[in-house]
Amino acid sequence: MIQASVVADARSVHAPGVVLVEDGRVLASGAPEVVGTPGPDVVVDSHPGHLVAPPMVNAHVHLDLSDLPPLPEAGDFDGWIGAIIRHRRAQQAPGAVEAAVEQGVAASLRGGCPFVGDVCGSIRAYRALAASVLGGVGFVEVLGHGSRIDAARALVDAIGELAPSRHGLVPGCSPHAPYSTAVGVYTAAQASGLPVSTHLAESQEELAWCRDGGGPFGTRLAAMGYAPEEVPPPGAHPLEAYLPRLEPSPRTVVAHANYCEPRHLEALAEHGATVVYCPRAYRYFGHPQDGATAHPWAAMLRAGVPVALGTDGRPCLPASGPAANRLSIADEVLLLQEDGATLEQWLPMATVHGAAALGVPLEQVLIEPGVTTGLIALPLESSNPVRIRPGHDVLTLLGPGA
Ligand SMILES: [Zn+2]
Repeated sequence: MIQASVVADARSVHAPGVVLVEDGRVLASGAPEVVGTPGPDVVVDSHPGHLVAPPMVNAHVHLDLSDLPPLPEAGDFDGWIGAIIRHRRAQQAPGAVEAAVEQGVAASLRGGCPFVGDVCGSIRAYRALAASVLGGVGFVEVLGHGSRIDAARALVDAIGELAPSRHGLVPGCSPHAPYSTAVGVYTAAQASGLPVSTHLAESQEELAWCRDGGGPFGTRLAAMGYAPEEVPPPGAHPLEAYLPRLEPSPRTVVAHANYCEPRHLEALAEHGATVVYCPRAYRYFGHPQDGATAHPWAAMLRAGVPVALGTDGRPCLPASGPAANRLSIADEVLLLQEDGATLEQWLPMATVHGAAALGVPLEQVLIEPGVTTGLIALPLESSNPVRIRPGHDVLTLLGPGA
């Protein structure tokens, strides 16, 4: 039996709480007086000062960048993208991508996140991920304009041929972002029937390009040799130009939506896509910029938009401190708490919203008798209200990584 100051999932909170576990499965959970006192032969695993919860879902991450330390280009998104492109070229060496993914998988398990919405920079990265114990979706990235559109479409076809893993990971497709990816590639991704994730409304640079083809991305595309007619900007806000092109379903994953105006909330809610907010990456890149308002994750939740959480990739996360050797949604929750998020708000964001987006069976991220396959423990700063504490390990009590 596991005892803790708080036992909670997205549907219920018990303080104190207990979970009765046998042979790696939950038999019962809830308030101690309801579950009953353990008999003399029951081993009690006590976690005072902890929240025991289901494992978490990291709905937006780039595991194949786990070999890259935080980059100095935090305030320069275009420069940052340039550094990533250079790194990807260096990763062509045999075994390099695979080693990076392996590091990322280990960091995810240390972070209590056995389920991921991973953006795989290549089919090699997908295969490395599929060899791991992580579940979720490996969204292979596709991009390109002009003469590269055919190659991108062929890649979409190749992704459709990839096999799911034995641990429930399935292939998906990630049209990278509006400025890097032709509308025809978005269409091919959507027509493939694969799960789709894309970066949308992430930066001011993206907004500038979508508006009129200007800004650093316009300059970058011109330097890459594209004629303006090959990369026509949509002439609208990314959420207005691209959301209608995406399948209206919670399985459609919109990473970031950092620049979402109040007028977009209703459209997002009606569309049904899941938004993935990455609080630490948001801070790293210095958002909100140019006088914009802060990420409206709470307003999104109130409007009925499912908001999940992501860590984004290692290059925009801290290089030192307790979070440096893990990829954990718990570290994102610490920033949400600073924003006033309650347990009842953040736990669904950390579990069921991401699971629904990635097709992970919900019972795997709830504490339910007979079906729960994982449990973690997070140290608490306070149990009323429930606040998790920075600077401590995430304990995996049950499931992958235990
Ligand atoms: Zn990303």
